[in-house]
Order: sequence, then structure tokens, then C-alpha cells
Amino acid sequence: MANFHPSDNTLIEYSAGNLPAALAICVAAHLEYCPQCSHRASQLNSLGGTLLETSAKAQVASTSFTQLMARIQAAPTMGDIKAPVATATKTSAKPNLPKVINKLIHPARPLKWKRVSPALKEAIVTVGQDQYEVCFHRIKRGGKVAEHDHGGTEITVVLEGSFSDELGTYTVGDYIEKQPGDIHRPMATQNEDCLCLSVSEAPVKITGLLGKLINPFISFAPR
Ligand SMILES: [Zn+2]
Repeated sequence: MANFHPSDNTLIEYSAGNLPAALAICVAAHLEYCPQCSHRASQLNSLGGTLLETSAKAQVASTSFTQLMARIQAAPTMGDIKAPVATATKTSAKPNLPKVINKLIHPARPLKWKRVSPALKEAIVTVGQDQYEVCFHRIKRGGKVAEHDHGGTEITVVLEGSFSDELGTYTVGDYIEKQPGDIHRPMATQNEDCLCLSVSEAPVKITGLLGKLINPFISFAPR
């Protein structure tokens, strides 16, 4: 059961189909884990519809979900279609993951994992817009991620395993929102690797000594 949830405001925007695809993916993934927020989203949606007093029928959360899946489908593929079979197999659909996530890791668009540090790997995915970076992160069991700040809003949804930082422990289904100034040092729990989807508005800033050394490179890295 998830302990960290999107705000009502986010749920309203999601239900109305107003969220950028990258953020909508995070909310849709959370809703697949969280019956409480699913219910809340439809409640808020009908309330919003009543308040607007429009003749047009308000869209329900399920409609936004269908539209979102179509948008992901239409997004240009990032992965190399001719990637070796092994890669495709490794990243093929997993029944334990939300539908919206499986759409992102379809074998037709294999994830390209890149090692960021000994404990952290990332695979960037394209969802048809560049305002946000959408990225899978895999933290090795017990692994620590460099302490970092956030240049903009960053949403993380935990998909497998769990991680913790100074503010709490996050398990499967949790929807975590970090704002600029929220400095944290995530660490995966000891018993299993942690897989997350992260959506960030701007590149994260690594703080600390290591950060001072590598930030200039991150800022100018091609995105
Ligand atoms: Zn929830």
C-alpha cells in the first residue's frame, strides 16, 4: 500500500487530461497501485465537472489513461530497433509493473541502461516532449546515490524494491515529489535493488564535494 500520494491538485489536472505526458505517466502508474487515489481522482473529477457547469461532459480518469497510452504509443522511439535480442528480452514487459510502465519498456523500444555511478544506473525514455526528462533509475541493493538538489520539480514513483532518504522510506507505488531546495541522498534498502521512474523538470544538481567537481559537466551535457 502506497504511503506517498499526488496532491488533489495534481489528481484534478490528471483527470482533466491537463498534465504533460511525463507527469501523467507518474500519476497513472501510482493510480494502478493506489485504489484510494483512483477513487479520489474520479471524485474530484466529477466535482470539477459540476463546478464548471459546462454542458460538455467532464472526462473521467479512465479516459485520460486511454489518451495517455495513445500518446505514449505515438511518441518517437528512443531505443535502437536493431538492438540485440538479449537487450530486448531483458526489458520486455513485466507483469508486476503498471500497464503504463510496460508501455514504456515495450520490446520494440528497449531501454538503454547507462551506469551513472557504481550504485546507480539510468535509462532515459522519450515520451514525445522535452520539457521533462523521463528516466528509469535502478539503485543497487544497499547502494547510495550522490546527495543532490533539484533544479525543478522531480517526481519519482517506486516500481520495485524500496529506498530511503532523510525524510522517509519509500516503497512500491509511492509517489514522491521533490522541489528545488529539497536536498536528499537516496539509498536503496539492503535486501533488493530498487527500480524507480523519475520525471524531472530540469537537470538535478549534485551537491557536496563530488558535485562541485562534476556539476559543470552535467550542466553542459547534451540532453
Ligand atoms: Zn495514492
